[in-house]
Amino acid sequence: MLLRHTPKEVTERSALTINPAKTCQPVGAMYAALGIHGCLPHSHGSQGCYAYHRSALTRHFKEPVIAATSAFTEGSSVFGGQANLLQAIDNIFTVYNPDIIAVHTTCLSETIGDDIPQIINKAKAEGKVPDGKYVIHANTPSYVGSHVTGFSTMTRAMVDYFAESSGHKTKTINLIPGYSEPSDMEEIRRIASLMGIQTIMFPDTSKVLNGPLTGKYRMFPEGGVTIPELRQAGSSMGTVALGALASGAAAKALDAKCKVPCEILDLPMGLHGTDMYVDILRRIAGVNVPDSLTLERGQLVDVISDMHQYFYGKKVALAGDPDQLLAIARFLVSIDMIPVYMVTGTPAGKKFEKTLREVVKDAPCEVKIQMPGDMFLLHQWIKQSPVDLLIGNSYLKYIAKDEDIPLVRHGFPIFDRVGHSYFPTMGYKGGLRFLEKILDAILDRKDRDATDINMELVM
Ligand code: SF4
Repeated sequence: MLLRHTPKEVTERSALTINPAKTCQPVGAMYAALGIHGCLPHSHGSQGCYAYHRSALTRHFKEPVIAATSAFTEGSSVFGGQANLLQAIDNIFTVYNPDIIAVHTTCLSETIGDDIPQIINKAKAEGKVPDGKYVIHANTPSYVGSHVTGFSTMTRAMVDYFAESSGHKTKTINLIPGYSEPSDMEEIRRIASLMGIQTIMFPDTSKVLNGPLTGKYRMFPEGGVTIPELRQAGSSMGTVALGALASGAAAKALDAKCKVPCEILDLPMGLHGTDMYVDILRRIAGVNVPDSLTLERGQLVDVISDMHQYFYGKKVALAGDPDQLLAIARFLVSIDMIPVYMVTGTPAGKKFEKTLREVVKDAPCEVKIQMPGDMFLLHQWIKQSPVDLLIGNSYLKYIAKDEDIPLVRHGFPIFDRVGHSYFPTMGYKGGLRFLEKILDAILDRKDRDATDINMELVM
């Protein structure tokens, strides 16, 4: 009973977060930067921040996560980090030879007020950035936002620094995948490719953070969007941004800068979410949906229909990122499950909360949503009235254990299981996997609790 001190009664808290349902902005910025081919993310701050950001990503993906740091000392904390960053840029290009360095700030460098574009310009003027190499930046102070806003800001920086219009539109569609797994990015692209559509996906961490073990270490793995592709994104015929909070800013910036029209959708989870994604691709590209995709859709419909009795009426508590909460809530409601409690640590705004409340407006019981909220509050709600299932990251395992509730791990971070970076939960096939995980959790519990008399072989 690790959380035995969590009281059932909820008291007003305005200046204290306990077990936040988020991580810090630079984690997301670092993750996005790893989705550029040949990129070395750089944390402009102290070594402690950088060690935390890298270890959070390494523990989640079980892969080496490369990054560099400005390694602030007491001196840089007082006088600013310009000298450290200039030295770092010089060292990184000399020693590691990346194509690009993506600098993100931290709480400390933001509090000091370091002007990163000015430092980058100084580095260029001093010849520290070799020809054909690039340094980009994103401001990611972590006393606001979360890993999702960090991801969003770095993704937008890719547009600000590189996208350019050639004057004529290509037949390519840009895909901005949101804060999703490498496996989901692969799946999103596979669906477009099944429809015969050329795409540029950015960022793209597939084959970066879910690559094979070959026996040879590659500091810059095969995957990632290339800089020429980021340039060409400004000439694409359209952009599909998945997840408004993580992808919307970059899509809008691309529209404003290069006149590439954008559609901002929910993450393509479940039947409805994937239908919306496929339909928008079909309309932008002017293509038909292939039979192979219709088959995958039909399989998902089949499983929903076959196993509906086990989904029906089950109460679920969710903790995660806003874009994920919205997509998962829609999926659960569509199969007659009830997302009764939802919390996210990421501030997503009133409009987003209103949209989420709209999704659950017909629920047959009270639904509690807190944005931003924490897992301590979620636990208190569960103590007052329990649920059948938890969905969220690894930190929910403590609530799951104490309250004896099955947990489906989803989102970030997942430190204690594998699979998320290899098997998608988006698209029709991903929907099947997500349902399989939910069913396994529910039916395993049913078997465990069955008596000798009502133990069922066929379910
Ligand atoms: S919250 Fe701020 S100080 Fe803490 S690790 Fe993140 S950037 Fe560093």
